[in-house]
Amino acid sequence: MTPVRRIGVFGGTFDPIHRGHLDIGCAAERALGLTRMLVIPGGVPPHRAQPVASGYHRFAMVALSVAGRPGWRASDLELRAGGRSYTSATLEELRGRGYASTELFFVIGADAFADIEAWKNYPGILDHAHFAVVSRPGCSVSQLPERLPTLARRMVRPPIDPATTPNPSIILIDAPTADVSSTVVRERRALGQSIAGLVGPSVEQHIEQHELYTAAPDDREPSPAAGRLNGQG
Ligand code: ATP
Ligand code: MG
Repeated sequence: MTPVRRIGVFGGTFDPIHRGHLDIGCAAERALGLTRMLVIPGGVPPHRAQPVASGYHRFAMVALSVAGRPGWRASDLELRAGGRSYTSATLEELRGRGYASTELFFVIGADAFADIEAWKNYPGILDHAHFAVVSRPGCSVSQLPERLPTLARRMVRPPIDPATTPNPSIILIDAPTADVSSTVVRERRALGQSIAGLVGPSVEQHIEQHELYTAAPDDREPSPAAGRLNGQG
């Protein structure tokens, strides 16, 4: 029998990718036995500010981070599409690209999942893939059944048993991740402080070499008025 392929789909702004992102990816990979992890830098949710670094730099930092991690891939799917990038469209696109017979797990932090009701195509988006939700410092997955009571019956804990798991389901993974955010990395850079340990060494070097997050105008993506807008949700 062919083993089931379990693909992690990890979307985010990654402005920049940091230790917490790598931890959540590893936690989902371990808990679910994922065979591949697609890390997809995209745009910004409609309700948040635009990325500071360009899509090119954000992709480069994701590519540096997946180097040497077997099964992990940097995906340019959302950046190539341009415009707003919606998770529901991304998942549909992946199904059309040969992932139809695989199990897709959208990897997401508990803080982001807590806002899922505001996402485009909610609640239908939850039928596009399993959602692998991982605790973030200050936002445990244990709070989610109470926070999202209408979804509580779909929430399960790993390990996943295909015979008993509602399909697709919301898998709650309680694992420690680094208490880091991209916001803190950007703020520390703007203040001229070290970001060692918050991001991987290659990403730290990339940020320093290209002088990212120092508030230089060249680091910024075009404004919506300039005609290009990314979004996620
Ligand atoms: P920002 O501060 O710019 O919002 P961020 O650190 O929250 O950045 P995002 O790119 O917004 O990073 O997050 C992408 C995904 O990674 C989201 O699902 C988010 O919940 C998750 N995530 C980010 N940091 C962590 C962390 N430290 N632990 C667990 N999940 C995280
Ligand atoms: Mg965030």
